[in-house]
Amino acid sequence: MVTTTADSVAAHATYEPVIGLEVHVQLLTATKIFCSCSTRFGAPPNSNVCPVCLGMPGALPVLNKKVVEFATLAAMALECRINETSIFARKNYFYPDLPKGYQISQYDKPLAENGFIEIPAGKGKKKIDITRVHLEEDAGKSLHEGFPDSDEKTAIDLNRTGVPLIEIVSEPDIASPDEAYEYLTRLKEIILYTGVSDCNMEEGSLRCDANVSVRPRGQKEFGTKAEIKNVNSFRFIREALEYEIGRQIGVLESGGKITQETRLYNSNEGKTYSMRSKEQAHDYRYFPEPDLPPLVVDEKWKAEIGRGMPELPEARRARMVKDYGITEYDAHVLTSPKSLADQFEEAAKAAKNSKRVANLVQSELMGRLKAKGIEIEQSPISMKGVAASADLVEAGTISGKMLKELYDLSFERGRDFPVVYEEEGRPQQSTDTAVLEKLIDEVLAVNPKQLEQYRAGKTTMIGFFVGQVMKASKGQASPQIVNELLGKKLK
Ligand code: ADP
Ligand code: ZN
Ligand code: MG
Repeated sequence: MVTTTADSVAAHATYEPVIGLEVHVQLLTATKIFCSCSTRFGAPPNSNVCPVCLGMPGALPVLNKKVVEFATLAAMALECRINETSIFARKNYFYPDLPKGYQISQYDKPLAENGFIEIPAGKGKKKIDITRVHLEEDAGKSLHEGFPDSDEKTAIDLNRTGVPLIEIVSEPDIASPDEAYEYLTRLKEIILYTGVSDCNMEEGSLRCDANVSVRPRGQKEFGTKAEIKNVNSFRFIREALEYEIGRQIGVLESGGKITQETRLYNSNEGKTYSMRSKEQAHDYRYFPEPDLPPLVVDEKWKAEIGRGMPELPEARRARMVKDYGITEYDAHVLTSPKSLADQFEEAAKAAKNSKRVANLVQSELMGRLKAKGIEIEQSPISMKGVAASADLVEAGTISGKMLKELYDLSFERGRDFPVVYEEEGRPQQSTDTAVLEKLIDEVLAVNPKQLEQYRAGKTTMIGFFVGQVMKASKGQASPQIVNELLGKKLK
Protein backbone atom coordinates (compact mmCIF):
# COMPACT_ATOMS: atom_id res chain seq x y z
CA MET A 1 0.00 0.00 0.00
CA VAL A 2 0.93 3.58 -0.52
CA THR A 3 1.78 5.61 2.55
CA THR A 4 -0.93 8.05 3.42
CA THR A 5 0.76 11.11 4.78
CA ALA A 6 -1.05 14.38 4.12
CA ASP A 7 1.48 15.16 1.36
CA SER A 8 0.95 11.94 -0.50
CA VAL A 9 -2.81 12.29 -0.26
CA ALA A 10 -2.50 15.73 -1.85
CA ALA A 11 -0.18 14.35 -4.55
CA HIS A 12 -2.67 11.56 -5.30
CA ALA A 13 -5.38 14.13 -5.82
CA THR A 14 -3.35 16.08 -8.38
CA TYR A 15 -2.54 13.03 -10.54
CA GLU A 16 -4.79 10.64 -12.34
CA PRO A 17 -3.90 7.11 -13.36
CA VAL A 18 -4.31 5.80 -16.90
CA ILE A 19 -4.53 2.05 -17.28
CA GLY A 20 -4.75 -0.28 -20.29
CA LEU A 21 -4.88 -4.06 -19.99
CA GLU A 22 -3.61 -6.79 -22.27
CA VAL A 23 -5.24 -10.11 -21.50
CA HIS A 24 -4.18 -13.45 -22.94
CA VAL A 25 -6.80 -16.17 -22.93
CA GLN A 26 -6.05 -19.75 -23.84
CA LEU A 27 -8.67 -21.33 -26.06
CA LEU A 28 -10.10 -24.70 -25.06
CA THR A 29 -9.43 -26.55 -28.29
CA ALA A 30 -8.27 -30.17 -28.07
CA THR A 31 -5.33 -29.51 -30.37
CA LYS A 32 -2.84 -26.69 -30.94
CA ILE A 33 -3.28 -23.77 -33.28
CA PHE A 34 -1.01 -24.92 -36.14
CA CYS A 35 -0.54 -28.67 -35.57
CA SER A 36 -2.50 -31.63 -34.22
CA CYS A 37 -0.62 -31.94 -30.90
CA SER A 38 -2.76 -32.10 -27.77
CA THR A 39 -3.18 -28.97 -25.64
CA ARG A 40 -3.70 -30.96 -22.44
CA PHE A 41 -2.33 -29.23 -19.35
CA GLY A 42 -0.10 -31.24 -17.04
CA ALA A 43 1.12 -33.84 -19.57
CA PRO A 44 4.70 -35.10 -19.03
CA PRO A 45 7.17 -32.42 -20.24
CA ASN A 46 7.81 -32.37 -23.99
CA SER A 47 5.32 -35.15 -24.73
CA ASN A 48 2.88 -33.00 -26.74
CA VAL A 49 5.26 -31.84 -29.45
CA CYS A 50 5.88 -32.37 -33.17
CA PRO A 51 8.09 -30.86 -35.89
CA VAL A 52 5.62 -27.99 -36.41
CA CYS A 53 5.44 -26.75 -32.82
CA LEU A 54 9.13 -27.48 -32.30
CA GLY A 55 9.90 -25.18 -35.22
CA MET A 56 11.85 -27.74 -37.26
CA PRO A 57 13.04 -26.40 -40.60
CA GLY A 58 10.56 -27.12 -43.37
CA ALA A 59 7.63 -27.97 -41.10
CA LEU A 60 4.58 -25.96 -42.11
CA PRO A 61 1.75 -24.60 -39.94
CA VAL A 62 -1.87 -25.43 -40.75
CA LEU A 63 -4.50 -23.27 -39.04
CA ASN A 64 -6.94 -25.04 -36.69
CA LYS A 65 -10.48 -24.14 -37.77
CA LYS A 66 -11.87 -24.54 -34.25
CA VAL A 67 -9.42 -21.91 -32.99
CA VAL A 68 -10.84 -19.38 -35.43
CA GLU A 69 -14.39 -20.23 -34.39
CA PHE A 70 -13.63 -19.89 -30.69
CA ALA A 71 -11.71 -16.65 -31.16
CA THR A 72 -14.45 -15.18 -33.33
CA LEU A 73 -17.14 -16.13 -30.84
CA ALA A 74 -15.18 -14.51 -28.00
CA ALA A 75 -14.57 -11.37 -30.05
CA MET A 76 -18.27 -11.14 -30.89
CA ALA A 77 -19.17 -11.52 -27.21
CA LEU A 78 -16.84 -8.57 -26.57
CA GLU A 79 -18.84 -6.56 -29.13
CA CYS A 80 -15.96 -6.41 -31.61
CA ARG A 81 -16.18 -5.96 -35.34
CA ILE A 82 -14.79 -9.08 -37.02
CA ASN A 83 -12.42 -8.28 -39.86
CA GLU A 84 -13.27 -10.37 -42.90
CA THR A 85 -9.56 -10.69 -43.65
CA SER A 86 -6.87 -10.83 -41.04
CA ILE A 87 -3.17 -11.51 -41.46
CA PHE A 88 -0.80 -13.62 -39.41
CA ALA A 89 2.56 -12.03 -38.70
CA ARG A 90 5.87 -13.17 -37.30
CA LYS A 91 6.96 -11.48 -34.12
CA ASN A 92 10.67 -12.09 -33.92
CA TYR A 93 12.52 -12.43 -30.67
CA PHE A 94 14.90 -14.84 -29.08
CA TYR A 95 13.90 -16.75 -26.01
CA PRO A 96 14.84 -20.28 -24.96
CA ASP A 97 11.19 -21.37 -24.85
CA LEU A 98 10.51 -20.13 -28.38
CA PRO A 99 12.17 -22.69 -30.63
CA LYS A 100 11.31 -21.01 -33.96
CA GLY A 101 12.83 -17.71 -32.90
CA TYR A 102 9.51 -16.04 -33.67
CA GLN A 103 5.94 -16.23 -32.49
CA ILE A 104 3.11 -16.37 -35.00
CA SER A 105 0.72 -13.60 -34.02
CA GLN A 106 -1.34 -10.94 -35.74
CA TYR A 107 -0.15 -7.39 -36.04
CA ASP A 108 -1.64 -4.63 -38.16
CA LYS A 109 -4.58 -6.74 -39.38
CA PRO A 110 -6.01 -8.50 -36.33
CA LEU A 111 -9.02 -10.80 -36.30
CA ALA A 112 -11.27 -8.29 -34.56
CA GLU A 113 -11.37 -4.64 -33.45
CA ASN A 114 -13.45 -1.97 -31.73
CA GLY A 115 -15.20 -3.83 -28.97
CA PHE A 116 -16.08 -2.83 -25.43
CA ILE A 117 -16.95 -4.08 -21.98
CA GLU A 118 -19.34 -2.26 -19.68
CA ILE A 119 -18.35 -2.01 -16.05
CA PRO A 120 -20.39 -0.66 -13.15
CA ALA A 121 -19.36 2.88 -12.25
CA GLY A 122 -21.13 4.68 -9.44
CA LYS A 123 -24.84 4.28 -10.07
CA GLY A 124 -24.36 3.88 -13.80
CA LYS A 125 -22.09 2.11 -16.23
CA LYS A 126 -18.84 2.93 -17.99
CA LYS A 127 -17.69 1.58 -21.32
CA ILE A 128 -14.12 0.38 -21.57
CA ASP A 129 -13.18 0.15 -25.22
CA ILE A 130 -11.39 -2.86 -26.58
CA THR A 131 -8.85 -1.98 -29.24
CA ARG A 132 -8.38 -5.43 -30.71
CA VAL A 133 -8.65 -9.16 -30.30
CA HIS A 134 -6.03 -11.12 -32.16
CA LEU A 135 -4.91 -14.71 -32.50
CA GLU A 136 -1.51 -16.01 -31.55
CA GLU A 137 0.38 -19.07 -30.45
CA ASP A 138 1.73 -19.53 -26.96
CA ALA A 139 5.42 -20.06 -26.21
CA GLY A 140 6.87 -22.90 -24.12
CA LYS A 141 7.72 -22.78 -20.46
CA SER A 142 11.05 -22.37 -18.74
CA LEU A 143 11.21 -24.13 -15.41
CA HIS A 144 13.68 -22.62 -12.99
CA GLU A 145 12.33 -24.23 -9.88
CA GLY A 146 11.98 -27.82 -8.74
CA PHE A 147 14.89 -28.74 -10.96
CA PRO A 148 18.16 -30.13 -9.58
CA ASP A 149 20.82 -27.43 -9.15
CA SER A 150 18.18 -24.90 -10.05
CA ASP A 151 20.70 -22.08 -9.65
CA GLU A 152 22.58 -23.24 -12.68
CA LYS A 153 20.05 -24.98 -14.85
CA THR A 154 16.77 -24.23 -16.47
CA ALA A 155 14.51 -26.88 -17.94
CA ILE A 156 12.37 -26.20 -20.98
CA ASP A 157 8.93 -27.73 -21.51
CA LEU A 158 7.61 -27.18 -25.01
CA ASN A 159 4.16 -28.70 -24.49
CA ARG A 160 2.70 -25.22 -24.42
CA THR A 161 4.32 -23.99 -27.66
CA GLY A 162 1.58 -23.57 -30.22
CA VAL A 163 -1.30 -23.64 -27.75
CA PRO A 164 -3.91 -21.20 -29.13
CA LEU A 165 -4.36 -17.82 -27.47
CA ILE A 166 -6.36 -14.74 -28.06
CA GLU A 167 -4.97 -11.44 -26.87
CA ILE A 168 -7.53 -8.86 -25.84
CA VAL A 169 -6.11 -5.34 -25.73
CA SER A 170 -8.04 -2.54 -24.05
CA GLU A 171 -7.84 1.14 -24.76
CA PRO A 172 -6.26 3.17 -21.94
CA ASP A 173 -9.80 3.90 -20.66
CA ILE A 174 -9.39 2.41 -17.22
CA ALA A 175 -9.05 5.10 -14.57
CA SER A 176 -8.41 3.20 -11.34
CA PRO A 177 -7.27 -0.15 -9.95
CA ASP A 178 -10.90 -0.86 -8.99
CA GLU A 179 -12.02 -0.31 -12.57
CA ALA A 180 -9.27 -2.64 -13.74
CA TYR A 181 -10.56 -5.27 -11.32
CA GLU A 182 -14.12 -4.82 -12.57
CA TYR A 183 -13.03 -4.97 -16.21
CA LEU A 184 -11.19 -8.22 -15.64
CA THR A 185 -14.07 -9.72 -13.69
CA ARG A 186 -16.55 -8.87 -16.46
CA LEU A 187 -14.13 -10.01 -19.17
CA LYS A 188 -13.59 -13.37 -17.52
CA GLU A 189 -17.29 -13.84 -16.96
CA ILE A 190 -18.11 -13.13 -20.60
CA ILE A 191 -15.41 -15.48 -21.88
CA LEU A 192 -16.56 -18.21 -19.49
CA TYR A 193 -20.12 -17.84 -20.79
CA THR A 194 -18.96 -18.34 -24.37
CA GLY A 195 -17.24 -21.54 -23.23
CA VAL A 196 -14.11 -20.92 -25.33
CA SER A 197 -11.76 -20.93 -22.33
CA ASP A 198 -11.73 -22.10 -18.73
CA CYS A 199 -9.93 -18.86 -17.78
CA ASN A 200 -8.02 -20.73 -15.10
CA MET A 201 -5.40 -18.28 -13.86
CA GLU A 202 -3.44 -20.89 -11.89
CA GLU A 203 -2.90 -22.91 -15.03
CA GLY A 204 -2.13 -19.81 -17.03
CA SER A 205 -5.15 -19.96 -19.28
CA LEU A 206 -5.88 -16.33 -18.40
CA ARG A 207 -2.94 -13.93 -18.04
CA CYS A 208 -2.99 -10.20 -17.71
CA ASP A 209 -0.35 -7.55 -18.36
CA ALA A 210 -1.26 -4.20 -16.88
CA ASN A 211 -0.02 -0.96 -18.43
CA VAL A 212 -0.16 2.05 -16.18
CA SER A 213 0.91 5.66 -16.22
CA VAL A 214 -0.05 8.76 -14.29
CA ARG A 215 -0.58 12.34 -15.48
CA PRO A 216 -1.48 15.59 -13.79
CA ARG A 217 -5.26 15.81 -13.64
CA GLY A 218 -6.57 17.73 -16.64
CA GLN A 219 -3.52 17.06 -18.81
CA LYS A 220 -4.36 15.58 -22.19
CA GLU A 221 -1.14 13.76 -23.01
CA PHE A 222 -0.47 10.44 -21.39
CA GLY A 223 2.47 9.95 -19.10
CA THR A 224 5.12 7.32 -19.72
CA LYS A 225 3.77 3.88 -18.87
CA ALA A 226 5.15 0.87 -17.12
CA GLU A 227 3.92 -2.62 -17.90
CA ILE A 228 3.37 -5.01 -15.01
CA LYS A 229 3.65 -8.62 -16.08
CA ASN A 230 2.89 -12.08 -14.73
CA VAL A 231 0.50 -11.19 -11.95
CA ASN A 232 -1.57 -14.26 -11.15
CA SER A 233 -4.80 -13.00 -9.63
CA PHE A 234 -7.17 -10.08 -10.17
CA ARG A 235 -6.71 -9.05 -6.56
CA PHE A 236 -2.93 -8.90 -7.00
CA ILE A 237 -3.36 -6.89 -10.20
CA ARG A 238 -5.38 -4.34 -8.26
CA GLU A 239 -2.74 -4.26 -5.53
CA ALA A 240 0.11 -4.04 -8.02
CA LEU A 241 -1.58 -1.12 -9.78
CA GLU A 242 -2.17 0.66 -6.49
CA TYR A 243 1.46 0.31 -5.57
CA GLU A 244 2.70 1.27 -9.02
CA ILE A 245 0.54 4.40 -9.19
CA GLY A 246 1.91 5.53 -5.85
CA ARG A 247 5.45 4.78 -6.96
CA GLN A 248 5.11 6.76 -10.19
CA ILE A 249 3.58 9.74 -8.40
CA GLY A 250 6.45 9.59 -5.92
CA VAL A 251 9.03 9.61 -8.72
CA LEU A 252 7.37 12.57 -10.47
CA GLU A 253 6.87 14.52 -7.26
CA SER A 254 10.54 14.23 -6.43
CA GLY A 255 11.42 15.62 -9.85
CA GLY A 256 12.26 12.29 -11.48
CA LYS A 257 11.16 10.75 -14.77
CA ILE A 258 9.29 7.52 -15.40
CA THR A 259 11.17 5.10 -17.62
CA GLN A 260 9.19 2.89 -19.96
CA GLU A 261 9.84 -0.57 -18.65
CA THR A 262 8.46 -3.96 -17.76
CA ARG A 263 7.99 -4.56 -14.07
CA LEU A 264 7.17 -7.59 -11.95
CA TYR A 265 4.94 -7.64 -8.90
CA ASN A 266 6.03 -9.32 -5.69
CA SER A 267 2.79 -10.08 -3.88
CA ASN A 268 4.54 -10.89 -0.59
CA GLU A 269 6.06 -7.45 -0.43
CA GLY A 270 3.27 -5.67 -2.28
CA LYS A 271 5.83 -3.98 -4.55
CA THR A 272 6.71 -3.92 -8.22
CA TYR A 273 10.29 -4.32 -9.47
CA SER A 274 11.92 -3.37 -12.74
CA MET A 275 12.50 -6.44 -14.93
CA ARG A 276 13.74 -4.95 -18.18
CA SER A 277 13.40 -1.83 -20.25
CA LYS A 278 10.38 -2.17 -22.51
CA GLU A 279 10.97 -3.26 -26.05
CA GLN A 280 9.29 -1.29 -28.83
CA ALA A 281 7.15 -2.74 -31.58
CA HIS A 282 9.90 -2.12 -34.14
CA ASP A 283 12.27 -4.28 -32.11
CA TYR A 284 10.23 -7.30 -33.11
CA ARG A 285 10.66 -6.83 -36.86
CA TYR A 286 7.09 -7.90 -37.50
CA PHE A 287 6.42 -9.13 -41.02
CA PRO A 288 3.57 -11.11 -42.63
CA GLU A 289 3.83 -14.86 -42.02
CA PRO A 290 4.73 -16.30 -45.43
CA ASP A 291 3.62 -19.84 -44.53
CA LEU A 292 -0.02 -18.93 -43.85
CA PRO A 293 -2.55 -17.42 -46.22
CA PRO A 294 -4.70 -14.50 -45.06
CA LEU A 295 -7.44 -15.66 -42.72
CA VAL A 296 -10.89 -15.06 -44.17
CA VAL A 297 -13.98 -15.12 -41.98
CA ASP A 298 -16.78 -14.32 -44.40
CA GLU A 299 -20.34 -13.30 -43.52
CA LYS A 300 -21.67 -16.83 -43.84
CA TRP A 301 -19.12 -18.33 -41.49
CA LYS A 302 -19.51 -15.43 -39.08
CA ALA A 303 -23.27 -15.99 -38.96
CA GLU A 304 -22.75 -19.69 -38.33
CA ILE A 305 -20.38 -18.95 -35.44
CA GLY A 306 -22.80 -16.34 -34.10
CA ARG A 307 -25.51 -18.96 -33.78
CA GLY A 308 -23.44 -20.51 -30.98
CA MET A 309 -23.64 -17.34 -28.92
CA PRO A 310 -25.26 -17.90 -25.53
CA GLU A 311 -27.22 -15.26 -23.67
CA LEU A 312 -24.43 -13.21 -22.06
CA PRO A 313 -24.21 -12.45 -18.33
CA GLU A 314 -25.37 -8.84 -18.43
CA ALA A 315 -28.45 -9.63 -20.52
CA ARG A 316 -29.21 -12.70 -18.48
CA ARG A 317 -29.10 -10.78 -15.22
CA ALA A 318 -31.45 -8.13 -16.57
CA ARG A 319 -33.87 -10.79 -17.73
CA MET A 320 -33.72 -12.72 -14.46
CA VAL A 321 -34.42 -9.59 -12.44
CA LYS A 322 -37.50 -9.14 -14.59
CA ASP A 323 -38.62 -12.77 -14.80
CA TYR A 324 -38.19 -13.72 -11.16
CA GLY A 325 -38.45 -10.43 -9.35
CA ILE A 326 -35.04 -10.85 -7.73
CA THR A 327 -32.58 -8.11 -6.85
CA GLU A 328 -29.63 -7.04 -9.05
CA TYR A 329 -27.31 -8.37 -6.39
CA ASP A 330 -28.88 -11.82 -6.32
CA ALA A 331 -28.93 -11.92 -10.09
CA HIS A 332 -25.16 -11.41 -9.93
CA VAL A 333 -24.73 -14.25 -7.48
CA LEU A 334 -27.03 -16.53 -9.44
CA THR A 335 -25.42 -15.95 -12.84
CA SER A 336 -21.88 -16.82 -11.91
CA PRO A 337 -20.89 -19.39 -12.91
CA LYS A 338 -23.15 -20.03 -15.87
CA SER A 339 -23.82 -23.57 -14.67
CA LEU A 340 -25.44 -22.16 -11.53
CA ALA A 341 -27.72 -19.91 -13.55
CA ASP A 342 -28.65 -22.89 -15.70
CA GLN A 343 -29.44 -24.99 -12.63
CA PHE A 344 -31.45 -22.21 -11.05
CA GLU A 345 -33.53 -21.56 -14.14
CA GLU A 346 -34.07 -25.23 -14.78
CA ALA A 347 -35.29 -25.74 -11.21
CA ALA A 348 -37.37 -22.58 -11.23
CA LYS A 349 -39.08 -23.58 -14.45
CA ALA A 350 -39.78 -27.11 -13.22
CA ALA A 351 -41.30 -25.82 -9.96
CA LYS A 352 -44.96 -24.91 -9.66
CA ASN A 353 -44.17 -21.30 -8.89
CA SER A 354 -40.83 -20.06 -10.20
CA LYS A 355 -40.99 -16.78 -8.30
CA ARG A 356 -41.31 -18.69 -5.07
CA VAL A 357 -38.09 -20.54 -5.92
CA ALA A 358 -36.34 -17.22 -6.56
CA ASN A 359 -37.78 -15.88 -3.33
CA LEU A 360 -36.56 -18.81 -1.29
CA VAL A 361 -33.09 -18.52 -2.80
CA GLN A 362 -33.07 -14.88 -1.83
CA SER A 363 -34.70 -15.04 1.59
CA GLU A 364 -33.71 -18.43 2.96
CA LEU A 365 -30.67 -19.68 1.07
CA MET A 366 -28.42 -16.63 0.64
CA GLY A 367 -28.58 -15.59 4.29
CA ARG A 368 -27.66 -19.04 5.52
CA LEU A 369 -24.79 -19.28 3.04
CA LYS A 370 -23.51 -15.91 4.18
CA ALA A 371 -23.78 -16.87 7.84
CA LYS A 372 -21.77 -20.00 7.12
CA GLY A 373 -19.32 -18.11 4.96
CA ILE A 374 -19.67 -20.45 2.00
CA GLU A 375 -20.24 -19.88 -1.68
CA ILE A 376 -23.44 -20.92 -3.35
CA GLU A 377 -21.58 -23.66 -5.23
CA GLN A 378 -20.93 -25.34 -1.89
CA SER A 379 -24.51 -24.98 -0.73
CA PRO A 380 -25.88 -28.14 0.92
CA ILE A 381 -29.24 -27.30 -0.62
CA SER A 382 -29.17 -27.57 -4.39
CA MET A 383 -31.37 -25.58 -6.73
CA LYS A 384 -33.43 -28.72 -7.21
CA GLY A 385 -33.77 -28.90 -3.43
CA VAL A 386 -34.98 -25.32 -3.26
CA ALA A 387 -37.51 -26.07 -5.98
CA ALA A 388 -38.75 -29.16 -4.10
CA SER A 389 -39.19 -27.13 -0.93
CA ALA A 390 -40.99 -24.39 -2.83
CA ASP A 391 -43.45 -26.93 -4.20
CA LEU A 392 -44.18 -28.24 -0.70
CA VAL A 393 -44.99 -24.76 0.54
CA GLU A 394 -46.98 -24.05 -2.59
CA ALA A 395 -49.11 -27.15 -2.03
CA GLY A 396 -49.64 -26.21 1.60
CA THR A 397 -47.92 -29.39 2.77
CA ILE A 398 -45.42 -27.52 4.92
CA SER A 399 -45.57 -24.07 6.43
CA GLY A 400 -43.00 -21.35 5.99
CA LYS A 401 -41.84 -21.94 9.52
CA MET A 402 -41.36 -25.65 8.90
CA LEU A 403 -39.38 -24.83 5.78
CA LYS A 404 -37.05 -22.63 7.79
CA GLU A 405 -36.49 -25.42 10.29
CA LEU A 406 -35.82 -27.94 7.55
CA TYR A 407 -33.35 -25.55 5.92
CA ASP A 408 -31.57 -25.19 9.25
CA LEU A 409 -31.33 -28.97 9.50
CA SER A 410 -30.03 -29.18 5.92
CA PHE A 411 -27.25 -26.76 6.79
CA GLU A 412 -26.47 -28.54 10.06
CA ARG A 413 -26.27 -31.92 8.41
CA GLY A 414 -24.76 -30.78 5.13
CA ARG A 415 -27.43 -32.63 3.20
CA ASP A 416 -29.85 -31.52 0.53
CA PHE A 417 -33.42 -30.54 1.32
CA PRO A 418 -35.19 -33.61 -0.11
CA VAL A 419 -32.87 -35.90 1.89
CA VAL A 420 -33.54 -34.06 5.14
CA TYR A 421 -37.26 -33.99 4.39
CA GLU A 422 -37.20 -37.79 4.11
CA GLU A 423 -35.03 -38.12 7.22
CA GLU A 424 -37.57 -36.09 9.16
CA GLY A 425 -40.35 -38.44 8.07
CA ARG A 426 -41.98 -36.12 5.54
CA PRO A 427 -43.44 -33.70 8.07
CA GLN A 428 -46.72 -32.01 7.19
CA GLN A 429 -48.36 -28.99 8.64
CA SER A 430 -51.51 -29.70 10.50
CA THR A 431 -54.64 -29.29 8.40
CA ASP A 432 -56.71 -31.50 10.67
CA THR A 433 -59.60 -29.14 11.36
CA ALA A 434 -60.80 -30.96 14.47
CA VAL A 435 -57.41 -30.56 16.14
CA LEU A 436 -57.16 -26.96 15.00
CA GLU A 437 -60.63 -26.07 16.22
CA LYS A 438 -59.75 -27.39 19.63
CA LEU A 439 -56.62 -25.20 19.68
CA ILE A 440 -58.67 -22.21 18.61
CA ASP A 441 -61.17 -22.75 21.41
CA GLU A 442 -58.37 -22.95 23.94
CA VAL A 443 -56.76 -19.77 22.63
CA LEU A 444 -60.05 -17.87 22.73
CA ALA A 445 -60.75 -19.15 26.22
CA VAL A 446 -57.50 -17.86 27.72
CA ASN A 447 -57.67 -14.48 25.97
CA PRO A 448 -61.05 -13.04 26.97
CA LYS A 449 -59.84 -9.45 26.90
CA GLN A 450 -58.67 -9.68 23.31
CA LEU A 451 -61.88 -11.44 22.39
CA GLU A 452 -63.88 -8.59 23.86
CA GLN A 453 -61.85 -6.06 21.86
CA TYR A 454 -62.50 -8.03 18.73
CA ARG A 455 -66.21 -8.13 19.40
CA ALA A 456 -66.13 -4.40 20.05
CA GLY A 457 -64.99 -3.92 16.46
CA LYS A 458 -61.22 -4.23 16.58
CA THR A 459 -61.11 -6.82 13.78
CA THR A 460 -57.34 -6.62 13.41
CA MET A 461 -57.27 -8.72 16.60
CA ILE A 462 -57.65 -11.74 14.34
CA GLY A 463 -53.94 -11.56 13.55
CA PHE A 464 -53.20 -11.96 17.23
CA PHE A 465 -55.37 -15.07 17.48
CA VAL A 466 -53.80 -16.64 14.40
CA GLY A 467 -50.39 -16.04 15.94
CA GLN A 468 -51.44 -17.64 19.22
CA VAL A 469 -52.87 -20.70 17.46
CA MET A 470 -49.72 -21.07 15.35
CA LYS A 471 -47.68 -20.91 18.53
CA ALA A 472 -49.86 -23.49 20.25
CA SER A 473 -49.43 -25.79 17.24
CA LYS A 474 -45.64 -25.32 17.40
CA GLY A 475 -45.71 -23.95 13.87
CA GLN A 476 -47.31 -27.08 12.48
CA ALA A 477 -50.65 -25.50 11.67
CA SER A 478 -51.48 -24.14 8.26
CA PRO A 479 -51.96 -20.39 8.81
CA GLN A 480 -54.44 -20.29 5.97
CA ILE A 481 -56.73 -22.86 7.52
CA VAL A 482 -56.41 -21.33 10.99
CA ASN A 483 -57.47 -18.04 9.46
CA GLU A 484 -60.52 -19.59 7.84
CA LEU A 485 -61.61 -21.48 10.95
CA LEU A 486 -61.14 -18.46 13.17
CA GLY A 487 -63.19 -16.34 10.80
CA LYS A 488 -66.07 -18.79 11.02
CA LYS A 489 -65.83 -19.16 14.79
CA LEU A 490 -65.81 -15.44 15.48
CA LYS A 491 -68.87 -14.69 13.35
P1 ADP B 1 3.05 -1.10 -26.71
O1 ADP B 1 3.40 -0.76 -28.10
O2 ADP B 1 4.01 -0.62 -25.70
O3 ADP B 1 2.65 -2.53 -26.54
P2 ADP B 1 0.36 -0.29 -27.07
O4 ADP B 1 0.03 1.02 -27.65
O5 ADP B 1 0.23 -1.49 -27.93
O6 ADP B 1 1.75 -0.22 -26.39
O7 ADP B 1 -0.59 -0.49 -25.82
C1 ADP B 1 -0.49 -1.59 -24.99
C2 ADP B 1 -1.47 -1.38 -23.85
O8 ADP B 1 -1.06 -0.29 -23.05
C3 ADP B 1 -2.87 -1.08 -24.29
O9 ADP B 1 -3.78 -1.76 -23.44
C4 ADP B 1 -3.00 0.42 -24.11
O10 ADP B 1 -4.31 0.79 -23.80
C5 ADP B 1 -2.10 0.67 -22.94
N1 ADP B 1 -1.46 1.99 -22.94
C6 ADP B 1 -0.92 2.63 -24.00
N2 ADP B 1 -0.38 3.79 -23.62
C7 ADP B 1 -0.59 3.90 -22.28
C8 ADP B 1 -0.24 4.87 -21.29
N3 ADP B 1 0.43 5.97 -21.58
N4 ADP B 1 -0.63 4.63 -20.02
C9 ADP B 1 -1.30 3.51 -19.70
N5 ADP B 1 -1.63 2.58 -20.57
C10 ADP B 1 -1.27 2.75 -21.85
ZN1 ZN C 1 2.83 -29.96 -32.59
MG1 MG D 1 1.38 -3.46 -28.13
